[in-house]
Amino acid sequence: MKVLEVKNLVKRYGKNLAVSDIEFSVNQGEVFGLLGPNGAGKSTTINIITGLIQKDEGTVTILGKDLDKELTACKYDMGVVPQELAIYEDLTAAQNVSFFGSLYGLKGKELAEKVDQTLAFVGLSDKKKHKVKTFSGGMKRRLNIACGLATDPKILFLDEPTVGIDPQSRNHILESIKQLNEQGLTVIYTTHYMEEAESLCDRIAIMDVGQIVAQGTMDELRNLVVDHWFIKLRTNQAIDEALIQRIPGVKSVETIGDQWVIACQNKGTQLRDLIDLFIKHDQMVEELRVEEPDLEDIFLTLTGKTLRD
Ligand code: ADP
Ligand code: MG
Repeated sequence: MKVLEVKNLVKRYGKNLAVSDIEFSVNQGEVFGLLGPNGAGKSTTINIITGLIQKDEGTVTILGKDLDKELTACKYDMGVVPQELAIYEDLTAAQNVSFFGSLYGLKGKELAEKVDQTLAFVGLSDKKKHKVKTFSGGMKRRLNIACGLATDPKILFLDEPTVGIDPQSRNHILESIKQLNEQGLTVIYTTHYMEEAESLCDRIAIMDVGQIVAQGTMDELRNLVVDHWFIKLRTNQAIDEALIQRIPGVKSVETIGDQWVIACQNKGTQLRDLIDLFIKHDQMVEELRVEEPDLEDIFLTLTGKTLRD
C-alpha cells in the first residue's frame, strides 16, 4: 500500500526551480531516502509534502487523501523533524514535547505518557525538566525527534537529522529510526551522507538541482551503472590524467582528494592497461582497489559531480 504519492511536483523561487517536476511514491513500512547535495531540493520537497510551504504544481497524496483538499487530516498522519530545529530554548524538554503533542489534541494523562515515552525513546528521560538552552547540539536534535513523534504519526519525515552532531548522538538517532521502522512506522529520510542512505533506506531517490536523477533499491541503482567498475588508486606521484583517459574502455576519470576514481567497462582489461601504464612511467602505486559501485560512484556517474562536502 502506498502511504505517499508525489506527482509532477514543481516549486519555483523566482527563476530558480527548487523542485523540477519530481515523482515518487513510498510504500507502507518503508524507509525511503532522499539523497542529494546541498541545494538539491530535499527540504523544499519535504516542506511541501508536510504542508509547511505551498507548491506551484503537482499533486501530493497522503494515505489516499489529497493534500490540498484534506490538509488538516493529512497533517495528523505526518510527523516532521525539520532540518532547522523547531524547539523552544526557554522551555524544558518535557514542555517542548508537550507543546507539540497538545497541538494535535493530546491532553491530560495521555499527553503526559506520550512525553515520557518519547523522551525515553530518544534517551532524554533524565533531562526531562532541563531547559533546552543547556543542551548540546546532539541532545537538541534528539529532542527535535521526540517532538516529531509526539503526535503519533503514521509517517515520519526527518530532514538531515544528523548534520553537525557528535558520532554518539548520530548513532543513537540512526538506531532509533531503525527501531521505529521495525515497529511499523514509515520513514522518509533526507541526507547528503551516502553511508546513511545506504545503511538505512529500503529505497533511495537521488536528487540533484531539483530533479530526481534516479530512484530504486541499492541493487536497482547499482544496475544503472552495471557496465561500470571502479578502480580506485593512490600514487606517490602526480600522473597525467590524459594518459589514463586514453586507455580504451575507461569511461571517466575523477579525483576525490588524493584518490583517483576510474570508471571502466571491463575491470580485467583496464586494470592490466593501467598497471602497464604505471610501470612504463615508473610510478609507484600505493593503494589500489577494484570495487562495485557505491552510492558515491553512482552519483558521480549520473551527475558528473561528487556528493561529498
Ligand atoms: P536541500 O534541502 O536539498 O539542501 P533546498 O530544498 O533547501 O535544498 O533548496 C533547493 C533550492 O531552492 C536551492 O537552490 C535553494 O537556494 C532554493 N531555496 C530554498 N528555499 C528558498 C527560499 N525560501 N527562497 C528562495 N530560494 C530558496
Ligand atoms: Mg535541506
